[in-house]
Amino acid sequence: MLYGFDIGGTKIELAVFNEKLEKQYSERVDTPKENYEQWLNAIVQLVEKADEKFGCKGTVGLGVPGFVNHETGIAEITNIPAADNQPILRDLSERLGREVRAENDANCFALSEAWDSENQQYPCVLGLILGTGFGGGLVFNGKVHSGQTGMAGELGHLQLNYHALKLLGWDNAPIYSCGCGNRACLDTYLSGRGFEMLYRDLKGENLSAKEIIQRFYASEQSAVEFVELFVELAAISIGNIITALDPHVIVLGGGLSNFDHLYEALPKALPAHLMRSANVPLIKKAKYGDSGGVRGAAALFLVK
Ligand SMILES: [Zn+2]
Repeated sequence: MLYGFDIGGTKIELAVFNEKLEKQYSERVDTPKENYEQWLNAIVQLVEKADEKFGCKGTVGLGVPGFVNHETGIAEITNIPAADNQPILRDLSERLGREVRAENDANCFALSEAWDSENQQYPCVLGLILGTGFGGGLVFNGKVHSGQTGMAGELGHLQLNYHALKLLGWDNAPIYSCGCGNRACLDTYLSGRGFEMLYRDLKGENLSAKEIIQRFYASEQSAVEFVELFVELAAISIGNIITALDPHVIVLGGGLSNFDHLYEALPKALPAHLMRSANVPLIKKAKYGDSGGVRGAAALFLVK
């Protein structure tokens, strides 16, 4: 059996999958926030309970809201103080008597979608999350590409380029500070939050993403203009990502991925930002929603 954990700031979820990635069982507990031993024990107890239930020693994959440095094995998970800066893989492997793997939750999202029956045919699957933030993950041949230290796919911290600034109006372009310490990161523009901040700063009205989208579908001029600009901004930035990675398929997740207009508008806007011989990849909506994290974490042990 494949055990996938979604390690969140408030809950730890375990889901157990068979070799076909079909969910067999799941359980959630509160995340111990301050004490590292308690945090380790919460995971160990869930694993032991599942081992007993299924009469086997399942593989253990973790999706974490941060990453585990591949060189040092140390977790960088600032919103879970109990586990932050700790050698979580070593300590869990020792207690569980088996290898434990971990990946960033956006990488787990991408991996879950890459192992969907429809997407397994594609060698390169790019997952993009347009949620609270903008992030991504890249899967080559069924495996996450996480790079030297685990930073690969941190696409939210790519920055606005020449064309984006030109579109936003050089001196008038709103420049946002990012949680990473830098400025003008895509995380603050292509996320649901960025969508709202841009509308506020370009159109002078404080609306939720949902309201902006409703006004767009009601053909209100301000919202229509704004969505055209947002699609162009997304095409400029995603176009650069496509030029770097040339994925076969892009899967969109997060709240803003439910804005269906994007699936028509992005493929039309992208070619202007790609090399002449490039193909616009298939762009589709994520299938697994909230369960993508545990599913992708479980898939860390699958081999194509
Ligand atoms: Zn950043």
